Parts: sequence; C-alpha cells; structure tokens
Amino acid sequence: MKDWSCEVCTEAVRDELGCRTETEKPIFEVAGILLHRCPFSLVNTETDTFVRCYVMAEKFGVLPFSGGWLEQSSKFVLAFNEFAKIVWSLKK
Ligand SMILES: [Zn+2]
Repeated sequence: MKDWSCEVCTEAVRDELGCRTETEKPIFEVAGILLHRCPFSLVNTETDTFVRCYVMAEKFGVLPFSGGWLEQSSKFVLAFNEFAKIVWSLKK
C-alpha cells in the first residue's frame, strides 16, 4: 500500500471527499489550486516516487541519479522546480 492512498479514507467519507469522482464544490485548496478530488486519489506510483525523490533531494541533498543536477532527467528537474514553488508558497 502507498503511504498516500484512499485506503486510509473511511468508506463513509469517500464520496464526500471525492475519493471516487470529482465533487461539485472544491474540497481543498493548495497554493491557489482548487481540488475537487481527494488528494490521495491523485497520487499514483509515479507521483509517489517523485515526492520521495523530492524529499531526499530537498532534505538530504541526494539526487535520484548519480552525478549533479545536470545529470538528472529534464522531467525530474522541471517537476522539482514546480513542486518546490508550491512548497515554498505554503511555507510563507
Ligand atoms: Zn480519499
């Protein structure tokens, strides 16, 4: 089981939180982005792996591929920058 999974959402609130389908009204706002789905339902294996890599890079300076930033995939670097903007905006 992923750490972030709707398996932790109770059956009673899954429809209310948008675990299965979008809700009519937004249920969460993150950095100005309105979510109509339970955030856990949006996490897949790729995003789960990315967040783990982000934390390792941000907290411990460990990058997913050997070498420096220029050796990382452009996809990872772009995602890292966008994710960091959201994290920094939440810390303000
Ligand atoms: Zn959920």
